[in-house]
Amino acid sequence: MTDKTEAELTGAQSQRKPKASAHSIGERRLKPSTLMMGHGYDPMLSEGSLKPPIFLTSTFVFPNAAAGKRHFEGVTGKRPGGAEGLVYSRFNGPNQEILEDRLGVWEDAEDALAFSSGMSAIATLFLSMVKPGDTIVHSGPLYAATETLIARILGRFGVHWLDFPAGATREEIDAVLGKAASGNVALIYLESPANPTNALVDVEAVAASRDAIFANAAVKPPIAIDNTFLGPLWAQPLKQGADIVVYSLTKYAGGHSDLVAGGVLGSKAHINTIRLMRNTIGTICDPNTAWMLLRSLETLELRMSRAGENAAKVCEFLAQHPKVEKVGYLGFLERGSDARQADIYKRHCTGAGSTFSLYLKGGEKEAFAFLDALRIAKLAVSLGGTETLASHPAAMTHLSVPDARKAALGITDNLVRISIGVEDADDLIADFEAALEAV
Ligand SMILES: *Cc1c(COP(=O)(O)O)cnc(C)c1O
Repeated sequence: MTDKTEAELTGAQSQRKPKASAHSIGERRLKPSTLMMGHGYDPMLSEGSLKPPIFLTSTFVFPNAAAGKRHFEGVTGKRPGGAEGLVYSRFNGPNQEILEDRLGVWEDAEDALAFSSGMSAIATLFLSMVKPGDTIVHSGPLYAATETLIARILGRFGVHWLDFPAGATREEIDAVLGKAASGNVALIYLESPANPTNALVDVEAVAASRDAIFANAAVKPPIAIDNTFLGPLWAQPLKQGADIVVYSLTKYAGGHSDLVAGGVLGSKAHINTIRLMRNTIGTICDPNTAWMLLRSLETLELRMSRAGENAAKVCEFLAQHPKVEKVGYLGFLERGSDARQADIYKRHCTGAGSTFSLYLKGGEKEAFAFLDALRIAKLAVSLGGTETLASHPAAMTHLSVPDARKAALGITDNLVRISIGVEDADDLIADFEAALEAV
């Protein structure tokens, strides 16, 4: 019996399948911003409802017993690719599946998974790939909770780590990876740009280094990268040789500071491995959050484009202000003195994003006076929302980082982190101008 016939006898035939939405018009391949309005959803399966309903249910009815068996073969990994139908809401659900289809579209990824937070996505990725004695090689610095997860939590289970600085050259990456290769390297994990240094990782160099050092290995360690700050509009690291892309969808993808979620994109083989772990531990996002993300993705390009344009204008203003020492904005790399970073930017990025570092003249007193005087920008951590946010890393997100490491990372008392939103750019400039006046 062929697979197809078996599928017809059990699940597929007796469960209605969504009608495929258009992916091209003639020779023209449709762009992600177009596909976000319909991809993966057939209104005729939901009473003609233009928008997908939110499916609030914990379990799904099988058309017959054989279909139930076939679904569980998918869920448990006896057959790759996950369940073909819906089984139980810890494994999948209609809203999450539409979301995953649409997430993958932005980076032309084979497959994608949605998670309850960026950190649950990262934790599930790690748990699915490492075992005691393995090494994770990573760029540094990483998002603080990711560093904690690797060093303090996985460390308790006998997982080792080695890191190289985010801006490392091919030679520096070779040295660290070469040293790690004496043990079993389970995963190479990157984050670019690094927060708050903004240093970009040369993903092409990491991939070339991995391919050279593991040329004779039976399996090469996969390269995963946290693309939260620039993705999916301004950076698509699968194109530079990354195998897996990780997101905190809480930031630009969600984009309205009203949800917490995560995503992982990559090849079907890697996603199948990670899906098995998610099925086991239940780190999938809930249907309501998935639905909100579907709404967010419809305006992703609009929001990110506007935020990016706003940031460029605001940074131009800030850079020439007498009370400003320096603006750490990716858009200024090409006029700066760091030719290597500028070269990575040119090869890897299509935009500078809307999150940057502002170094004021002075210290904590000046930075606090500036933050307290802002009227439009809100004083809050996080980034990527429709509204502009400002925070003080040394006193907030990085408060517990030891002083020496803070100094090495450029986390000084005069540093303010800013995430620009979609407000009117001139209003934002007026707000920053008045706040600088108050310093
Ligand atoms: C916010 C963030 C995370 C964690 O995401 P949550 O959704 O808060 O769990 C991971 N990486 C980066 C770069 C982030 O900005």
